[in-house]
Amino acid sequence: MRTLLFVLLLGPFCVTAQDADKVRSNARKYVKNLTAPALHGRGYVAGGDRLAADWIAQQFSRMGLEKVKADYFQPFEFNVNSFPDSVRLSIDGVALEPGVDFIVDPASGKAFGTFDLVHLTPEDLFEPTRRSMAMGVLSGKAACLHFPATTNRDSLAQYATIEQDLMHFCPVIRRVDKLTWGVAQEAMPYPLFLVNNDLLTDSSGTVTLHVQNTLITRHPARNVLGAVKGKTKKWIIIGAHYDHLGHMGPDVLFPGANDNASGVAMLLSLADWFAKNKPKDNILFVAFAGEEAGLVGSEWCAVDRPVDLSKVKLMLSLDILGTGDEGITVVNATAERTLFDQLVAINTKKQLLPQVKPRGPTCNSDHCPFVKRNVPSLFIYTMGGITAYHDVLDKEETLPLTEFPDLYFLLKEFVSSLK
Ligand SMILES: [Zn+2]
Repeated sequence: MRTLLFVLLLGPFCVTAQDADKVRSNARKYVKNLTAPALHGRGYVAGGDRLAADWIAQQFSRMGLEKVKADYFQPFEFNVNSFPDSVRLSIDGVALEPGVDFIVDPASGKAFGTFDLVHLTPEDLFEPTRRSMAMGVLSGKAACLHFPATTNRDSLAQYATIEQDLMHFCPVIRRVDKLTWGVAQEAMPYPLFLVNNDLLTDSSGTVTLHVQNTLITRHPARNVLGAVKGKTKKWIIIGAHYDHLGHMGPDVLFPGANDNASGVAMLLSLADWFAKNKPKDNILFVAFAGEEAGLVGSEWCAVDRPVDLSKVKLMLSLDILGTGDEGITVVNATAERTLFDQLVAINTKKQLLPQVKPRGPTCNSDHCPFVKRNVPSLFIYTMGGITAYHDVLDKEETLPLTEFPDLYFLLKEFVSSLK
């Protein structure tokens, strides 16, 4: 009785612990499905992104979302480099573990065999006479780059240019503090190996390597689109990319739990709720493909425009929502102050997230192609907690989903109350 009175006093917006648990356990089911080995990391080996798109369309259909096109898909094509075959590296006869000890740069080409290492510093390659000497001895060998640690953007850009240059001539190998993988739309003639710091020394002598890439031209990709119709002619677009990095060889899987099974879980949670509780404005739910390859899916969505972009009140991009101990960051908030203030006001009133932090415009997720076309857009990501990112450790088992329920309640309110 006392509990009932308590609930009545707090009114219909009260969020109970049971509500939060239900939201989190539902989200975890979505994340589990999206990160399962059967979806191959939602990448470009074994049809991972195709299988993920099919699964999301099934969810849209189950929830009763309307089709915007002939079916739930918006097809497009792009080139992508992939690694269906085993990637191997030994240094001085000691085999390293792929994905854990080393990765290949996503734009790597093929190479096989044993190569002597030529150790090079930036000075060896900047100064013209030293450069021609260095290039002269590289034939038939592999370049081992020793770049000083820096955060200086100009130096990093210079180092990247050196690396790309060398990948036209020979296999390249470089030490890194953290292995961070990605997706490339092109392939260089030779591979670049990135190796954990302590496994490669100044006296490392030879490498034995095996990498066979497959450059897929015109890879058929699909955004997944579903709509819930409201009572006005206005639209809200809620988007989350479902693609991730897939496989580096058959044995190394990048599951992409935080990036971005968590965002798709939020997309599906919101779609399910709004399908049952009709919103004021129309909502277009988009699961984007090709984000990791350079925002290809969202760019195509903004070009192909399934809805009139001049009628869009808000484009909300959800990418990396699996933590939240330190709240959320809202990208493009300083350019969309009114929207941001509304979000903060709801959060303060309902005491949900510990922090809602504004950030300026940055072209770092699927909101960007819409911002370029003057659509009011925000990109939200969670902060704090685990640091796994674009590596094999970004998995469901260690994804906390700390603030997922609070963020879900906040976004539900925010989307429902947009002026
Ligand atoms: Zn992402």
